[in-house]
Amino acid sequence: MVVAAGRPIAPPPFAGGDPSGREGLLSAPVRWPRADAFERPLSALRGVGPTYEGLAAEAGVKTINDLLWRLPGTYADAPDRRLLGDLQPREQASVRVEVASSRRVRVRRRGLSVVEAIVVDDSGRRKAVWFNRHWVLDQLVPGRSLILEGRLEKKGFVVSDHQLIDDDTVTTAACGPPRPPGLEDEAPRARHSAGGEIGPARWRRWVWQACQAAGDLGDPLPSRLLAGRRLPAASDAIREAHFPSSQESSAIARRRLAYEELFLHQVVLAGLRSNGSLRRERATAIDGIPAISAGWLEQLPFRLTDDQRAGIEQIGADIGRPHPMRRLLMGEVGSGKTVIAIWAMLRAVESGRQAALMAPTEVLADQHVSTVSRLLRGSSVKVGVLTGSSSPAERERVLASLASGEPSIVIGTHALLEKPVEFGGLSLCVIDEEHRFGVRQRDRLDRKAPRGERAHVLHLSATPIPRTLSLTSYGDLEVTAIRQLPSGRRSVETRLVDEADRAEAFQEVRAEVARGRQAFVVCPLVEESEKIQARAAGAEAERLRNGEFADLEVGLIHGRMSAERKQVAMSAFESGKTDVLVATTVIEVGIDVPNATVMVIEGAERFGLSQLHQLRGRVGRGEFGGCCLLMSSSGSPTAQRRLSALVSEPDGFRLAEIDLEMRGEGEVTGTRQSGLPRFRLARLPRDSELLESAREDLDRLLGEEGGLDAPVFGPMNQVARHRFDRTGAIR
Ligand code: ADP
Ligand code: MG
Repeated sequence: MVVAAGRPIAPPPFAGGDPSGREGLLSAPVRWPRADAFERPLSALRGVGPTYEGLAAEAGVKTINDLLWRLPGTYADAPDRRLLGDLQPREQASVRVEVASSRRVRVRRRGLSVVEAIVVDDSGRRKAVWFNRHWVLDQLVPGRSLILEGRLEKKGFVVSDHQLIDDDTVTTAACGPPRPPGLEDEAPRARHSAGGEIGPARWRRWVWQACQAAGDLGDPLPSRLLAGRRLPAASDAIREAHFPSSQESSAIARRRLAYEELFLHQVVLAGLRSNGSLRRERATAIDGIPAISAGWLEQLPFRLTDDQRAGIEQIGADIGRPHPMRRLLMGEVGSGKTVIAIWAMLRAVESGRQAALMAPTEVLADQHVSTVSRLLRGSSVKVGVLTGSSSPAERERVLASLASGEPSIVIGTHALLEKPVEFGGLSLCVIDEEHRFGVRQRDRLDRKAPRGERAHVLHLSATPIPRTLSLTSYGDLEVTAIRQLPSGRRSVETRLVDEADRAEAFQEVRAEVARGRQAFVVCPLVEESEKIQARAAGAEAERLRNGEFADLEVGLIHGRMSAERKQVAMSAFESGKTDVLVATTVIEVGIDVPNATVMVIEGAERFGLSQLHQLRGRVGRGEFGGCCLLMSSSGSPTAQRRLSALVSEPDGFRLAEIDLEMRGEGEVTGTRQSGLPRFRLARLPRDSELLESAREDLDRLLGEEGGLDAPVFGPMNQVARHRFDRTGAIR
């Protein structure tokens, strides 16, 4: 029995033999061997010859399996019959009528045939029209009753599907005529449509036949899994989805099929993670005594959040194995990722190994150096720095130390990737803001591990990726999300300011500065050109220096400045010498100045939701709280909705989800843009919860069965191979 939300629902009508005896009356249902059932061509069905096979192929349906998985789009409630006199123009409707007269209409256009009939019911009469179905003329005998489905157009009621009714319809239906449930049935009816030239009635007959044999396809999912989620077996679900016995049961059927798709996709991804080449590669198991790391955690001036603890546990388990870890640690700016990364690096050092932390920019590398030095103050752990602006002497010293294999931490930029940088015992790489590095670059660092080994890699990202996306998109990475912010951290108050009110916004900045605080002014995203943006930022700084902020210290930072000048600008801001820092999006990541409390973002509607959230994360990092003023002119309604979401939602993960929903909304292509895979039936992010369940169930099954090699995964892998390619992409 199928149960949803605690309410029992009638079992699918055909489960375990048909009580109505329909099955018995069917003349020899199609049977085929299970092994090649997936690839069985459509012509295996009765009534499908080469012509129809060709037409169906044009509609993308080549095999029985394709046919079964082409689920009807909507369901019409059968009892919802209309009267001819009540029909509204272009309304999709079903009517029960009698034929008064009929004729074939002569048309000029080749390849077009038209049959017309005058049909009547109690409310009156109308013209009904059939296109390209000349054979219906024979059925349209005056006085016959039929049910028509279609739409009222200018030229008449255009019929998309019809069914003849005999006077004894009710009785014949009850004793089970060997034909699919049709228009006269009381159950909701699927609107089958092949598109193209195959009529829905014919399509439905094929599907019906195929469904008779669907049991032979077997069920890729083990029954205990289905029982746990109260989902029906595959063949029942397929049948219910095509020929529903009630709205509820068809919804459950679809849910089951969507779950199957998501589950099998997770199976493929799990294969990529564990059976992938990395499993065969070796890494040093970092399992030394926690001589430094445990005490270090103890002495931190704060309590770790639960998410931080969980992250530490997972990473500890990963790096303790002799195979390379590939984990993505993502969490909002300030959620405490660096603390976890430092802990992991300490584990490497206390196990006699080396760890490297690579940041995408010098500004960020410098920030890490200061954070790490601050948090490791008083410990004896060696920390080296290697960036493009390291002095030659410093560089020599660090290179020699790394080559010697002396246990230590090194922090740097791309400079770490250069040839002369050799490690004697690299076993852990932490890569900050991984999306800023090319894949090739990020792969190069872990190859500097001792010969025959790869290093463990921990990626840090402050860009929250919705779980929906991370669950379906990172074949090769395990993901740990830190959703909690350390307690006491307040969210940034965010407001929309019309460009016309900019004077007020700047007044607010002045007020903050008067209180001893500092501010950012972020220049609009002009184009994807750093040069143009740099120029715009320069002009804005100049304008403010001579205008609104003439009496304040205005600094400038942008991507086109030399590392040295950026450093000077940053230090001036950090030390409080500059009151207002005019910036481009270079400040998006990493900048940590607790005294900065207000940010004005100009042309806010031009930025993406995640980017705006990243930007505002630069203020309110200290005890004074923070405020972000989004300046925008008009912008499209979508842009306005984006900005409103930012005003009301402080959680970056939720915002990322909202962003995804907005981009995925309605549009089919939107889903592509969002990076979410498209399935035949499952829709993300709508079915996120189902995806979550599938992943949870798979993890449990893997735990119980010991791995993907267990026999229970055999049928799943077989079916999955038909649906997804080796990378997990949908075929
Ligand atoms: P992220 O790298 O995620 O941006 P950091 O690890 O740099 O975050 O932490 C941001 C700031 O918060 C640092 O100053 C850090 O010392 C502090 N911090 C980290 N974890 C906690 C915590 N659990 N409670 C309070 N403060 C914390
Ligand atoms: Mg950080």
